[in-house]
Amino acid sequence: MRERQSVAHQLDPAARRVLERVEVDGVELVRFLYADHGGVIRGKAAGRSRLAERLGTGIGHTVAMMAMSILDHLQPVEGMGPVGEVRIVPDPRTFVALPYAPGAAAMVSDLRDLDGGPWAACPRTFLKDAIAALEAEGYAAVAAFEPEFTLGRRLPDPAGGPDRLVPLDDSPCYATSGFDLAHDYTMQLVRALESQGMPIEHYYPELGAGQQELSIRPATALKAADNHVIYRETVRGVAFRMAMWATLAPKPIANQAGNGAHLHVSLWDPALEHNLFADGHGGLSALGRHFIGGVLRHLPALVALTCGSVNSYRRLQPRSWSSAYTCYGMDNREAAVRICSPMSGNIEATTNLEIKPSDSSANPYLSLGAVIHAGLDGIRRELDPGDAVNVDPATLTDEERARLGCARLPASLGEALDALEADELLMEALGPLRRAAYLAVKRSEVADFAAQDVAYETFHHLRVY
Ligand code: GLU
Ligand code: MG
Repeated sequence: MRERQSVAHQLDPAARRVLERVEVDGVELVRFLYADHGGVIRGKAAGRSRLAERLGTGIGHTVAMMAMSILDHLQPVEGMGPVGEVRIVPDPRTFVALPYAPGAAAMVSDLRDLDGGPWAACPRTFLKDAIAALEAEGYAAVAAFEPEFTLGRRLPDPAGGPDRLVPLDDSPCYATSGFDLAHDYTMQLVRALESQGMPIEHYYPELGAGQQELSIRPATALKAADNHVIYRETVRGVAFRMAMWATLAPKPIANQAGNGAHLHVSLWDPALEHNLFADGHGGLSALGRHFIGGVLRHLPALVALTCGSVNSYRRLQPRSWSSAYTCYGMDNREAAVRICSPMSGNIEATTNLEIKPSDSSANPYLSLGAVIHAGLDGIRRELDPGDAVNVDPATLTDEERARLGCARLPASLGEALDALEADELLMEALGPLRRAAYLAVKRSEVADFAAQDVAYETFHHLRVY
């Protein structure tokens, strides 16, 4: 007991607050969560008796798990074999008691070497490094993932195929019948998110059968990615507890609207007093234009990280409001980068860019980190994004698109991975171990799903995301 008290004594204030919350909330298990290269959220849970130690040392974990695909097929990656251990070390500032899992709490974690330093394949460290690169140039990023998901029930296929998602309703887009039909679930979700410190921005039933969109307030970059992990957990956890199934997979039902997780970004001064994307006249600053230039320059490679699954490319089709071409536009829902019109009366705070080719099958740390690297490249090289495209690019001729520099995004994960491998900036930013593992895992998913039909693909994505 004395030993335990002395361990608690050495902890930082955030960790000590975790121990207090565990006592007050009667928490018995604390999940240490991380997102893997497949974009799957995994973890291990610590009991409360030795939590004080675990907060410092984490829980041991095999290095091999970062070479695991969404099918749990382990890939041969040097440095991620059966020998070797990392620690899942939680960030106490991310502690949340889980409203949908009484007695349990969660923290988002880093993957650390046994000596306590960041492991070369830790995704959260990738984002932290990108944030540090921004900070070194005098910028802080504010971001929000704007997720859509499909609510329904997972039922066996009467024909004996993989389980299917039967959507909750067939209400029209934004129709009030959709609000009513999903109401009990939605209220549980809203309360669960608010109680975990995620204020709700908007909610509405969307276009696809069973499709919901519920967005939360933006936050600084690391917190935005952490929030997206907790959000994904909550959307599914609340549904499971109500004997329903929710999935943020990009295209869980092949003939219905896809689920995006549009990524909203703005750059601020380090004190977060001024939005540097706002030009002071209601428009986008030169810095914002250069950021777009960088994102567009790297976009074919970037989507390998922001739209990380085989299923992602079923969503990225023309005329789906998900974007299918490398262009930007003012409030253009078919442009890959949309300059969102700011809210009058709050212009500075609300000026931001929305990156549409982004979905919840991505690892949010790799995704947002890569967007930051691409945008920063645009800033450093003062890349001009060209003219805004303020029409649906699918309505233009090939010549018109070529003139505007508007190219079709990769049509498959395999094509996107080819572009990623050819992108020196992103490959360098990922580093040798992380990029080897990411490419191995994702190439294996391409091969595994190529050998199967759509029902198999949608099932395995709605199962994990
Ligand atoms: N569901 C669309 C997508 O896949 C987005 C629709 C919207 O603009 O909200 O990105
Ligand atoms: Mg939407």
